[in-house]
Amino acid sequence: MDIDTTLIHSKLREFFGFGTFKGNQEEIILNLLHGRDSFVIMPTGGGKSLCYQLPALLLPGTAIVVSPLIALMKNQVDAIRGFVAGNEGIAHFLNSSLSKAQIAEVREDLVSGVTKLLYVAPESLTKEDNVAILKDVKISFYAVDEAHCISDWGHDFRPEYRRIRPIVDEIGRAPIIALTATATPKVQSDIVKNLGIPDATVFKSSFNRPNLYYEVRDKVEPEKDIIKYIKQNPGKSGIIYCLSRKKVEELANMLTINGINAVPYHAGLDAKVRAENQDRFLMEDIDVIVATIAFGMGIDKPDVRFVIHYDIPRSLEGYYQETGRAGRDGKEGVCITYYSYKDICKLEKFLQGKPVSEQEIGRQLLMETVAYAESGECRRKLLLGYFGEDYPQDNCGACDNCLNPKPKFDAAGDMKLAIDLVASLPEHFKVEHLANILAGINTALIKSYKHDKTKFFGAGSQHNAKFWEMIIHQAVIRHFLTRNIDSYGVISSTPQGAEFSASPYTLMLAGDRSFTEGVDDDDEDNVQTAPARGGSGGDAVLLSMLKDLRKDLSRKLQLQPWVIFGDASLEDMSIMYPETLDELKTCQGVGEGKARKYGKPFMELISKYVEENEIERPDDFLVKSMPNKSSEKIYIIQSIDRRMDLEDIASAKGMDMGEFMTAVENIVESGTRLDLNYYIDQYIDSDVVDEIYDYFRNEAESDSLETALNDLSGDYEEMEIRLVRIKFLSEVAN
Ligand code: ADP
Ligand code: MG
Repeated sequence: MDIDTTLIHSKLREFFGFGTFKGNQEEIILNLLHGRDSFVIMPTGGGKSLCYQLPALLLPGTAIVVSPLIALMKNQVDAIRGFVAGNEGIAHFLNSSLSKAQIAEVREDLVSGVTKLLYVAPESLTKEDNVAILKDVKISFYAVDEAHCISDWGHDFRPEYRRIRPIVDEIGRAPIIALTATATPKVQSDIVKNLGIPDATVFKSSFNRPNLYYEVRDKVEPEKDIIKYIKQNPGKSGIIYCLSRKKVEELANMLTINGINAVPYHAGLDAKVRAENQDRFLMEDIDVIVATIAFGMGIDKPDVRFVIHYDIPRSLEGYYQETGRAGRDGKEGVCITYYSYKDICKLEKFLQGKPVSEQEIGRQLLMETVAYAESGECRRKLLLGYFGEDYPQDNCGACDNCLNPKPKFDAAGDMKLAIDLVASLPEHFKVEHLANILAGINTALIKSYKHDKTKFFGAGSQHNAKFWEMIIHQAVIRHFLTRNIDSYGVISSTPQGAEFSASPYTLMLAGDRSFTEGVDDDDEDNVQTAPARGGSGGDAVLLSMLKDLRKDLSRKLQLQPWVIFGDASLEDMSIMYPETLDELKTCQGVGEGKARKYGKPFMELISKYVEENEIERPDDFLVKSMPNKSSEKIYIIQSIDRRMDLEDIASAKGMDMGEFMTAVENIVESGTRLDLNYYIDQYIDSDVVDEIYDYFRNEAESDSLETALNDLSGDYEEMEIRLVRIKFLSEVAN
């Protein structure tokens, strides 16, 4: 075909509305139009789609676009239909979601030559029926998008991608264009080999994203930190990645509880809910999406302002893809990652169930992530270096390490000391143990092995144990030591280490990056980020003033004091000095209703007190603690809202009625109002309800269930008492 560059420019404007090509789009398109195979490596947001969409519209025949995600296909097809108004058939997709009739329609458009672009999932491409259809169609070229799915090195491996080439040969060879944002040499060679395009012209763009800011934070109270960050950046759109579905749910709930507009996204959610949540995020109905890495491939939301990795990613490759979703419009994009070595150990444990070869790959990828996280070097330089690209400057000005350079030091001596220690021990030990020896910390384990008697004990006591752990991690990364995962991660020597120890050379490391232990997510207690509960620690003067106020109010309102606010609530107030409704709601036992109904005079008193006494309020009260097992609670609350029978809710959650009632009571006692009238009216006599209600209103001295059961149990069923108590708490107290 004769290629007219003015034509492709005018089509660029006509179809896509763009005045110029981005990066090397034009060269890529020309190459394809010339009928040559192409391999496009371009960072996320670089504009890969256009490289095949535009030529598809120009060339005779239909272009087949292999793309991994059904949800994406529909978006892309809709977009193209939008460009070329009045011609629905111009683009189609073929995947498992289509009905027979729909497939017939697609086939008709294909055969009649109307369709310029056909998106297919690899599973559909390889289906015999579809192959048969496509054999009769003139194919202009094949585009393999997200081509890294061919490689098992890294992430997103899709075995069906490996079958693309044989199918291409069966349907009929036409030029192939492979596109990916993955730049590691290993993945690239996998793609070229597997697609059989050794002579493809390679177009590799720079991977630098100058508008992205990279930071690695110590994983200490990450929830609190994240909430603070989001509150400081109101209205901005962001993605938070977690490794597990459970964490996704928990964190999304926690953000919601703290007044942040957030929804979860992971593969375990119902497809409809997932699509809905994704749409709501794209439509800016919600600000934050908390997701596993199942979310985001190909997502084109230009104004994502932050990408947070709650957990360290499994590979730098994945990390770069995920962070790449920030700031696609070239404006602000903040990428924050929380790092704790504990998470690495957890990830290593997951690897154990996998085949050995995969374990090795996985471990190596992980170690590269550790090196990145712990490094004091320019993060941009490290990342680009990982992708085989040289970043020429020394200071990028947009990463934590460049903005706050850490002093560097020559770690050769320290490294040698650690290597020598390991070599000196007949048995193998874990990192913490070795670090304790060097730092001179005497533990029971050290004593039992008499390691406190060796010359290494305290040989590095000028540094703390964390420092020594870092040195050992760095030694592992450099293969000076090795960590044996199968035997609980114990460290042993390597020939490379012995070599280094024999003739050490300068090894510059960043000095004061002292990562702490980090949190252990398995421990429910640690998820509670609100200040410590209990009587102590509060402002005693304020507390007594709050109690006086409560007494006054209770007289005025003719309510018992505990109905207004419980003691625990007042204690929290005396610790946190809440001055706004949102702050007040973070106090134990204070829900929305209570805060609105009774909060005002309390906040006024606190404000006045704070001002008069020049009190510095803590700035971390913002975080409302998440109730344990919160997803269960949310399920219960939602089901009661929907007026489900209590028995059904309980059995859906596998609880007996006793457990269920306790759960409901916990919800109400922590300040949430529940309307059980639909159930109570149905099952309890209204006189009984009134009598028990009266008891709580006029006789009870506290909201204690135990006392109530004691006082009333002769006259009423336990279930009746409990239900009415909940009604009372919800209507009057909350
Ligand atoms: P990738 O697949 O490489 O991640 P996309 O194809 O989704 O990137 O494109 C990213 C963004 O760049 C999209 O919003 C797209 O509309 C825009 N874009 C693509 N080409 C151009 C161009 N020539 N001029 C302006 N914007 C473009
Ligand atoms: Mg893309």
